[in-house]
Amino acid sequence: TKEIICLGELLIDFICEDTGLDLKGGENFVKRAGGAPANVAATASRLGVKGSFAGCVGNDPFGDFLIESLNHHGVDTTMITKKGNTTMAFVSIMDDGERDFVFVRGADEQYEIKGFEERFSNCKILHLGSATALLGGNLKKAYEESLKLALDNDVFLSFDPNYRGDLWKGREGEFIELAKEYISQVHFVKLSQDELFMIYGENNLDKALDKMYKDYNSLSAITLGSKGTYLATPQKRMLVPSIKINPVDTTGAGDAFVGAFLSQLVEEENLKGITGNFEKLKEKAAKANKVAALVCTKLGAMTALDVISL
Ligand code: ATP
Repeated sequence: TKEIICLGELLIDFICEDTGLDLKGGENFVKRAGGAPANVAATASRLGVKGSFAGCVGNDPFGDFLIESLNHHGVDTTMITKKGNTTMAFVSIMDDGERDFVFVRGADEQYEIKGFEERFSNCKILHLGSATALLGGNLKKAYEESLKLALDNDVFLSFDPNYRGDLWKGREGEFIELAKEYISQVHFVKLSQDELFMIYGENNLDKALDKMYKDYNSLSAITLGSKGTYLATPQKRMLVPSIKINPVDTTGAGDAFVGAFLSQLVEEENLKGITGNFEKLKEKAAKANKVAALVCTKLGAMTALDVISL
């Protein structure tokens, strides 16, 4: 089936509304659905393909709210499990522009793929784009198991390491090793420029990509914010520009790019041969840039999804 499964975290972002205050001083918070893989599933579903989210939410009102939020965008939520309390992230943007951040890890860590093996084996694309999975827990095991199922069953694998400095403090080396391990096994990888530079220890786009392609021979997209996306295959590389917009909140722009890009790839007959058709890939990336840019025009990662189109 032409299904895209996104595996990882679905959580509540509590965003502090008291501008300039840290989390100690802040008093007012808005509640938003979050989680990078969930954003990807929501974007793809909004664009008319079957996007499914697999992950664990709490057995609490927040879990119910999150499932409803995904249902609203048409995401298949039948692989979601419930256990304990929902994962929460509290964030405040301080006067100096720095983020104050508290992460309360809960249910997302508890996901197990047991009982869903067939879904993972029969989908067309599996997207592993979690910011929390590689940290540990059952979800990390679910990543390893689903990756193996995908490889054994000819499922197209997509990966976004979604590095969060707040979560990997003191474990940066471990993150780099894990990211390289995953990159070497997938068919599509999306990295921000910062992630690319960090993982390959280079501060030049082409030099870093040269290093990456020593151990990788498929498709990649390096997101460059307002400049757009640098698209690469083993044979060819090119900047695909984004459109001009007035950004309000760029949270989830990368996820929107991935969701929109995968929603087009999933329609391809010969998905694994797609790296040979750079022109086609460029068109798809340009459309995905447009969707990602639109997402930047509204506050919250999923807010603008009500109005997107390719
Ligand atoms: P995220 O912010 O979701 O963690 P990221 O770092 O990959 O992910 P960006 O590189 O900021 O995100 O943006 C992803 C894509 O969104 C870009 O490749 C581009 O297509 C689009 N985009 C982001 N910011 C802008 C902008 N200011 N103007 C136009 N397009 C933008």
